[in-house]
Amino acid sequence: MAFPLQGEDTCQHLLPTPLPNPYWIGFTDNLARELGIALDASGLPKDPRWLEVLSGNTLEANEHRFIDPIATVYSGHQFGVWAGQLGDGRAILLGDLAGYEVQLKGSGITPYSRMGDGRAVLRSSIREFLCSEAMHALGIPTSRALAVTGSKKPVMRETLETAAVCTRLAPSFIRVGHFEHFAAARSIEHLTALANYLLEYHYQDCRSAKDPYLALFIAISERTANLVAQWQAVGFCHGVLNSDNISALGLTIDYGPFGFLDRFQMDHICNHSDSQGRYAYHRQPQIMHWNMACLAGAMLPLLEPRYGSEDAQKHLQEALEEFPTIYRAAWLRQFRSKLGLFREDDGDLHLAESLLQLMHDNRVDFTNTFRALAHLNRNQLIQSNGLRDHFLNREAFDRWMQSYADRIAQEGHSDHERQEQMLRVNPKFILRNYLAQAAIEKAQNDDFSEVKRLLVILQNPYAEQSEYETYAAPPPPELENIELSCSS
Ligand code: AMP
Ligand code: MG
Repeated sequence: MAFPLQGEDTCQHLLPTPLPNPYWIGFTDNLARELGIALDASGLPKDPRWLEVLSGNTLEANEHRFIDPIATVYSGHQFGVWAGQLGDGRAILLGDLAGYEVQLKGSGITPYSRMGDGRAVLRSSIREFLCSEAMHALGIPTSRALAVTGSKKPVMRETLETAAVCTRLAPSFIRVGHFEHFAAARSIEHLTALANYLLEYHYQDCRSAKDPYLALFIAISERTANLVAQWQAVGFCHGVLNSDNISALGLTIDYGPFGFLDRFQMDHICNHSDSQGRYAYHRQPQIMHWNMACLAGAMLPLLEPRYGSEDAQKHLQEALEEFPTIYRAAWLRQFRSKLGLFREDDGDLHLAESLLQLMHDNRVDFTNTFRALAHLNRNQLIQSNGLRDHFLNREAFDRWMQSYADRIAQEGHSDHERQEQMLRVNPKFILRNYLAQAAIEKAQNDDFSEVKRLLVILQNPYAEQSEYETYAAPPPPELENIELSCSS
């Protein structure tokens, strides 16, 4: 399971930098149980040394001892430009636990820190913690988050802040950037080891293919296309889709200035530093295709011995060209399901796209519009309903509703069946920026109750949880445009 590459040119063995006097900020008890960590009645580890382990202060707690922490090297394209060597500049891979790699993010300087301090601040650590678990509960492939620990240790960003460590877990943190690094270094040996490792542990089905490496590329590309379709379906904007932030397992990783859309705007940009809108919501599919092109380029040397250069390129090119088709099919599956359509009809694409256009034109809340649709019964579809009031252009809304009602009528399912299906895929609760911000501000004043509450709510995004109704509300106008930069 462990990181498959060895040698100084692939990773460095090191210890995390201790975090002084740490305390718990957030802890995912159900994940901890899955990992076999014994918990007390309050849902925290019985062995207090876990707090020290997950802050980078020791490697051993009762149930476990990590032996050989490392930081790995990778490279990547940032905002479309080759950035050369990057690497785990502030994440340290402690080792394996119950089928996961355990990383401490913000645990101090590594040989790949460049000008950075190796730390992460409280606000970005809370955001990564909550969003990882929110995405998991939404059913979207993602790295998980076990804990955030904090400290009074000062960290300088635009202002003075404090340090935190987020413990994140994934079956593997291998990225497109790892492939790019060893391709740029012309290290066919390491490229082969990376690919063989993925084939052995994470893409076993590809091993029996005529060409396992080509099959591996196709499979990674497919997972990535499916992943981005899932992002689009919940209105998630990643914010920094650089190739070093793209998982080779098709997981959402490296949460930074991400955002869930409140009011729907197709070209919404969640990262304040992304002035060109390269990573805007509507560009995500295209950008992930572009990232797969980076991967294809990096994997080319693996195919060349078998096919020769020209044919190897041709095979990868053909595979790459499938991406938009796979993505579109996945997108349509997602939106059919969101609209409660069980059968396939040629008009469904238009039905879904015209709804999104209408939502964009009227700037309605993405999550709540779909959730409200899920609650409507057949009569309400064509009669006046509360949803209608949110659309300025009522005529356009009525026209769309009529076509939707007609389409639903063809299905022959009961209201109950359709509603049940729709409520399972249209979340009520997402990590809205203003909610995260409120939890962060409290935490900055040593009150972690809101982090805990949000975790509970976001772990059940499809349940009504009527006691938490206010957490489903769109942001009040003054909190609509919280700007997030890359600074973290
Ligand atoms: P990101 O955009 O957060 O994915 O980071 C890009 C690169 O910068 C990665 O190699 C990170 O490890 C590194 N990095 C980001 N912040 C820091 C920091 N505070 N200290 C050291 N390295 C960092
Ligand atoms: Mg990154």
